[in-house]
Amino acid sequence: MKPATTPQGGPWPLSQAITTFWRFPSPRILATFLVVVLAIRLWLGAWSAWHALIPVVLLAVHPFTEWLIHVFLLHWRPRKVLGLTLDTVAARDHRAHHKDPPHLPLVFIPLPTLWAGAALVTAAWLLLSPDLPFAFTGLLSTTAIALAYEWTHYACHVPWAPKSWWWRSRVKHHRLHHYKNERYWYGVSLHLGDRVLGTLPDADQVPRSPTARDLEARGPA
Ligand SMILES: [Zn+2]
Ligand SMILES: [Zn+2]
Repeated sequence: MKPATTPQGGPWPLSQAITTFWRFPSPRILATFLVVVLAIRLWLGAWSAWHALIPVVLLAVHPFTEWLIHVFLLHWRPRKVLGLTLDTVAARDHRAHHKDPPHLPLVFIPLPTLWAGAALVTAAWLLLSPDLPFAFTGLLSTTAIALAYEWTHYACHVPWAPKSWWWRSRVKHHRLHHYKNERYWYGVSLHLGDRVLGTLPDADQVPRSPTARDLEARGPA
């Protein structure tokens, strides 16, 4: 399997991985949003034991959300409807990411997608929550999960070599998705979605896909 390469070459220490991560706009925007939302949440007060369930439920749902977004949004195949090509920035950038996995700017959530997602998620929490403290606990949890996802995906693409089995497992499965077969290993930060939905095979049982680096070659759905 081809490892992630960088112009610098060689394994990175954690400090270099962290410094490089913060050079990109998406982590900075998410971290700023996280701090602002945390400040508002602390100011609102009105803590309730029920609120502790929100991050637990979101973490339980997250592997499936991640799987669905990867399969249906990021691997969306452009198609013509009434002469118009239906495509999204997220899908276009993900195809470019598959073409050149080590190219770091393409590893992060595209900014138009990030802003649209932030607006949608904020509106959903504000409109659907029973009160403001509940809404901001939800928003805080969602933002923390999004930032953790960005770090995990980034960590799979840089030559930082964490020793723990947990990190090694993320890196191994994500590289299999990029370099062996793009139809499996859709989870990035958690693999429960793959396990339940049948896309976490033994790597030896899966053929190498000729389109893993070229999603466009698969043609329209
Ligand atoms: Zn990737
Ligand atoms: Zn993919």
